[in-house]
Amino acid sequence: MIAGHSHPHVLAAVERAARRGLSFGAPNTMESELAERICTLFPQVERVRFTSSGTEAAMSALRLARGYTRRDAVVKFEGCYHGTADSLLVKAGSGALAFGTPSSAGVPDDLARHTLVAQYNDLASVEALFAAHGERIACVIVEPMPGNMNLILPAPGFLAGLRELCSKHGALLVFDEVMSGFRVALGGAQQLVDVVPDLSVFGKVIGGGMPVGAIGGPAGVMEMMAPLGPVYQAGTLSGNPIAMAAGLATMDLIAEPGFFERLDAGCARLVDGLNAAGRETGVAFCAQHRGGLAGLYMLATPPASFAQVQQQDVERFKRFYHRMLDEGVYLPPSPVEAFFFSGAHGDADVDATIAAASRALRAVA
Ligand SMILES: *Cc1c(COP(=O)(O)O)cnc(C)c1O
Repeated sequence: MIAGHSHPHVLAAVERAARRGLSFGAPNTMESELAERICTLFPQVERVRFTSSGTEAAMSALRLARGYTRRDAVVKFEGCYHGTADSLLVKAGSGALAFGTPSSAGVPDDLARHTLVAQYNDLASVEALFAAHGERIACVIVEPMPGNMNLILPAPGFLAGLRELCSKHGALLVFDEVMSGFRVALGGAQQLVDVVPDLSVFGKVIGGGMPVGAIGGPAGVMEMMAPLGPVYQAGTLSGNPIAMAAGLATMDLIAEPGFFERLDAGCARLVDGLNAAGRETGVAFCAQHRGGLAGLYMLATPPASFAQVQQQDVERFKRFYHRMLDEGVYLPPSPVEAFFFSGAHGDADVDATIAAASRALRAVA
């Protein structure tokens, strides 16, 4: 909720839309309007298809990549989350070259073997997969700034390296910006790292709190989707007018001059205060952020890999988490989740959170 809960501008837009009709099972003008805003913010996006969730958007992006390239295999990264489509609920087996093993019951091995797993920030692990399976790989799907193994920042050259490998081997590069889009910057992580993917997947912020996902990309790829192309994709409630209204109203708010500067500055102040609290209490604890996407870690320095994220002191995190709850601060309930700063968080909230963290860290030292 990047603008805060129940923002009056969003509520008013939802109410107006609701009076006109809850659902039409057909495209509506607000859908086109939101698509146009996405196209303006993401230069390579010429077409947008809405879905009802991030899961559905990531699933459809995979199908589109597979249909477009006529290849079956996909590369994902251990610790990156793309919703609950079968092909994406897979993490590493042993070794970067191993075929994926499902990380959920109910995912057939026959499907999981088309998912190849690499290590985030380790370009060599991706090169090895392309060397062994290059002609089978339809796409590489990645959270450009992962927030689902807590926040990890891309190492310099890592995402550009993925771009180069995909172009060289005829695979599509898919950025899953469901979490980072409109949050680390208005133009998402791709704006900050200056790497252009083939397909982008969106969700969360663009629905303003209502169920939405979206896929965007160049016309040449997107027009492979039905009804123009052979890749089937549809949804009765996709682009639902209430969700579009909430999304558009949220976009109004975050596109206002100064919104992102304030979000970034407020989150920076929180992160600086948390880092100071870590230093003062001597606890191995730190924080970092990009825009309104932030991570705090039971580590002395921010992690750069899934393996480093796993080195956190989980027992200490649990005690810290409950201490913070007692203080009235509701953190994400896991050391592998990022947290979001919103436009509704003011200086007083930041100061109170830092003071609470300082007391909580002292208690768990
Ligand atoms: C939340 C998330 C999803 C899934 O979106 P849902 O709307 O929960 O289905 C996909 N990818 C990323 C990066 C996410 O953070």
